Amino acid sequence: MRRNNKERVRMKQTSNWRYCWWLFISLFILVAYGAAYGEDMRHVATSGLFAHGVDPWLLPSKPHTLWEGNHLIAIVRGNPQRKEIALTFDDGPHPLFTLRLLALLKMLHVRATFFVVGWKVDQAPWVLQRMLEDGNEIGDHTYHHFDLKSGPPELTAAEIEMCNDAIYRACGYTPLFFRPSGGQFDPAVIHEAAAHHMITVLWTDDPADYESPPADVIEDRLLHHVSPGAIILLHDGIEQTYEMLPDFIERMRRAGYTFVTLREMIEHLDNTPHAERVQLASFRRFNTRTK
Ligand SMILES: [Zn+2]
Repeated sequence: MRRNNKERVRMKQTSNWRYCWWLFISLFILVAYGAAYGEDMRHVATSGLFAHGVDPWLLPSKPHTLWEGNHLIAIVRGNPQRKEIALTFDDGPHPLFTLRLLALLKMLHVRATFFVVGWKVDQAPWVLQRMLEDGNEIGDHTYHHFDLKSGPPELTAAEIEMCNDAIYRACGYTPLFFRPSGGQFDPAVIHEAAAHHMITVLWTDDPADYESPPADVIEDRLLHHVSPGAIILLHDGIEQTYEMLPDFIERMRRAGYTFVTLREMIEHLDNTPHAERVQLASFRRFNTRTK
């Protein structure tokens, strides 16, 4: 009897050790997962800090996409294996400036993506038809250009829907892409856009053209930083941006780059051998940790 008791105790001890061992393995996997994806998401979160004066050149060098299941919900960079650049122009349309930009892009045989502001669309709806005719992509940049990060989810939803409606009224097109106004976003904003079946688009390159620096400064900032899969944030209606575009585009083409719309860039993502699919859950977890 005594012997049986001893054996039972030993068996219990063995099973306790086995339990501890499994617990240790599970914890290790969880920590490793957190470290890997936490690192990845830090880059995504960093992009959102551009508007707060954080060094805009702290940029990712690997594919940075955010997925919810199999759905792409946010993108910072395209395929780093392809020498592709997506030019994006925010804050239009303007009845005169945008038409000039469209003519310039057409002359340079470049198609771009325009993130338009809803109330401006309602003032110059015909400009959107021209954008589509030239093969450009149109994205939602909210209706009033409010800071969505400090508002409730209902504000984000209303702003996205009102801008989408304005775009649809103007040209019968329903946009796929969304860029938060002022670059202000948090996971709730991305999640709300995803709930509207939209992909939130951030950027790899922000030469701060909205501060109206000289054209060669904008161009230099880009030339020193652009790399394959770049999403360049520019603004509609900035004279210096228009001025530097022909030379910048020519130099990039000479270096082997092609200019694509965001839709094309995303179609080419699947070919990325190391595309990282990050679950929204890990993004939320990381964001909570940084608060
Ligand atoms: Zn904007």
